[in-house]
This record gives sequence, C-alpha cells and structure tokens, in this order.
Amino acid sequence: MNKYFLFTPGPVNVAQNVREAICKEDICHREVDFDRLLQSIEKKILPIFGARETNDYRAVFITGSGTAANEAILSSVVGDKNILILSNGEFGDRLHNISKILNKNTSVLEFGWGEKLDLDEIEAHLKKHSIDIVAMVHHETSSGMLNSLEEVGALSKKNGAMFIVDCVSSAGAEKIDMKKCHISFCSTSSSKAIASYSGLSVVVGQTSEFEKLKHLPVKSTYLNLSRFYDFIKNHSQTPNTPAVHLFYALEQTLANILDEGIEERYASLKNKANMLRQGMLDLGLKFLIDQKDMCSVLTTVLVPSHVNVGVLRQKLRERAIIIYEGKGCFKNKVFQVGNIGEISLQDIQFFLDSLKDILHDFSALNIQNTRIDTALTLSMTEATPNQLGQSPLSVQAR
Ligand SMILES: *Cc1c(COP(=O)(O)O)cnc(C)c1O
Repeated sequence: MNKYFLFTPGPVNVAQNVREAICKEDICHREVDFDRLLQSIEKKILPIFGARETNDYRAVFITGSGTAANEAILSSVVGDKNILILSNGEFGDRLHNISKILNKNTSVLEFGWGEKLDLDEIEAHLKKHSIDIVAMVHHETSSGMLNSLEEVGALSKKNGAMFIVDCVSSAGAEKIDMKKCHISFCSTSSSKAIASYSGLSVVVGQTSEFEKLKHLPVKSTYLNLSRFYDFIKNHSQTPNTPAVHLFYALEQTLANILDEGIEERYASLKNKANMLRQGMLDLGLKFLIDQKDMCSVLTTVLVPSHVNVGVLRQKLRERAIIIYEGKGCFKNKVFQVGNIGEISLQDIQFFLDSLKDILHDFSALNIQNTRIDTALTLSMTEATPNQLGQSPLSVQAR
C-alpha cells in the first residue's frame, strides 16, 4: 500500500484504521454528528497534555497545519502586552517572525541553532525587563533538541509571565503536563507524533485564559482563538467549515494512542529511537547534539565529509526510504531521521541495512559521489538521452 517508508519528522505513514477512517460517511458539519465527533476528539486529546478535567482545559481545532495553531495563539493572546520569544532554531525563529508581524511589543532571546536554552540568561532577562508572556518551542525540530518545559515554565511563573508553547512535534511523543509546567496555551498538529494526516492543528489552553480572550483586540478573523473557544463551548462546533474527514482520521489516531496507553506509546517511540541511534552509531555516524537532549521522535545526524547528502537521499529514495535534509545553517551539514508513524522495528532494521550499503558504496568508490550527482543534476534539468550518455567527467561536479 505504501510507496515510501517516511522516516521523517512528519508527514507519517498512518495506521490502516486511520487510512480507513478518512473514508467514513459524508456528514454535514452543522449537524449533531459533527458535534459528537468534535466532543469525542476533545475528550481524547486532553490527556496527551496532562489535562484530564475538561473543565480546567479546553482544546480547539483548526483546519490548517501547525503554523495555523501557532499563529492563532500569537494573534489572540498577546494584545499590546510584552512577549518574549526564546529561540534556538528554525521553529523558534518562526514564532518570532509571526509575532513580530502581529505584536508590536515582541522581543527575542536567541541562542544558537542546536544550542541549549541558557536558563540563567533567561532568568536575568526576565528580572530586568517587564515581560508578560514567554513563548518557546518544546521540541525544536530543526536540531532535534527537546527544550525543558518544566524549567522555563517555572521561570515564567516566578516572574509573573504567561507561558505559551509550540508542542507541534512533541505532543504524542513526550510528556506534556500543562498544569505542572504552568502552560497557558500550547499548539500541536495532526501529522507529527499524533500520526494522522496533515491538515489539522490544535490549541489546548486553560479555560480561564480562553475566557479572557474576548477582551483582547482581534488581529485575525479566521485564526481568532476567542471565536474557536466560543463555538466549541456553546455549540461543539468550529467557526468555519472544518475538513470533516480529517477529523475522522484524527479521532481514530487518538483512539489508537489511548488504546496503546500514552506511557506505552512514549516508551515504544523511545525504544525505536534508541535502536535507530545505536544502529547509526555502529555505522560510525555522529549526531549534532547529545542523545540526552534529543526528543524521542527524531535523530539529527552529521553528514560525513565524503558523503553528499543529496546523493544519499536519492540512494535511499531508490529503496523507498525518505529522510529529511537539514535546513538553514544546517543545510548539507546534517540529515534527519524520524521514527514516528507506522514504522516497525523491522522497518528500522531495513533502513539501517540500506544505510550501511549506501555508506559502504560512498567509501569504496568515492567517484560515485560525482557520478550520481551528475546524473541527478542532468535529470533535474530534463536531460536528453544524449546528454546522459556524456562522460560524467565532462560535466562539472558540484
Ligand atoms: C512542523 C512544525 C511546525 C508546523 O509547521 P507546518 O509547516 O505548519 O506544518 C511548527 N513547529 C514545529 C516545532 C514543527 O516541527
């Protein structure tokens, strides 16, 4: 059924029952059928955020990818207050870029990409400046670094700031306790560790904070969190037309997580990550960050000097394996291997065996790099058979 093994941080290979759920009956989203579907999904998703009592926390559902949920939070909870973004990678930078457009009192503390957040520096900053809201990413997907909710949450509380978190790539894989970590709002999406199709995102928030949103200025119509809250609270509905069939799939994947058990799911993902990591270490590969700082969904691997990452990805693709390449300052320096979705231990072994073969080819025959690369370059520019017949040496290697 699947063309590819998606060893990516999302999208994922979905479970068979999730694939079937998306084909369920057609319903009208303004009928009671959808009200019930939404109630069921909300009830199932809250435990992933440690929020079992629906009274204290609510979840709202947005048709749109993870960025929609982040933009909904950043456009709806800040008003004219001071927001500080903590960034140590691409997704922290994205939060900053979104907030800058929406909120004039946006500031940022930047740590390097792949560096840890410096808690002393954050504390000193919070003491010195008047900050009302602190925002950060839980799992910084660009490096694989898991930032500490507990520590930053405690610092925010101590300094009287609200704490909001992008949990897009960690929810469903890592423990998130909103109450214990003093998180007022956090976001996630359907297509990462939650393991459904892409296209839905979620904001989970404290009910008391949702209630206050109606007093704040409206900065977006579609992504107005206050409206989402109002609709779910009063009508069990979404303000605009939802992608109904994606909701069926989301309900099924959440049921799968609860059936397996949340803790068991975390342990299973960790086990897969450990197998993947040990296997890659055994092949002589090295990682961008310390294993103890990694999230259990993704491993960021340094590209060995004799390997061209474009060629590596193509060679894996020929074996139906898809991995991710590094972005921004990590481009060509790292590749990323995910272990979420329907990936079995056998699939991981298949990946490791394939990687071993390909790395062996790279070392045994260094010219391979040039030759495949040349063929790739030509095929990407729609080469004629004549051109492909040329000696690789006549085409400049990148
Ligand atoms: C994937 C991701 C997002 C959302 O990106 P989309 O392109 O909107 O799906 C946001 N934050 C993090 C940390 C992510 O990994």
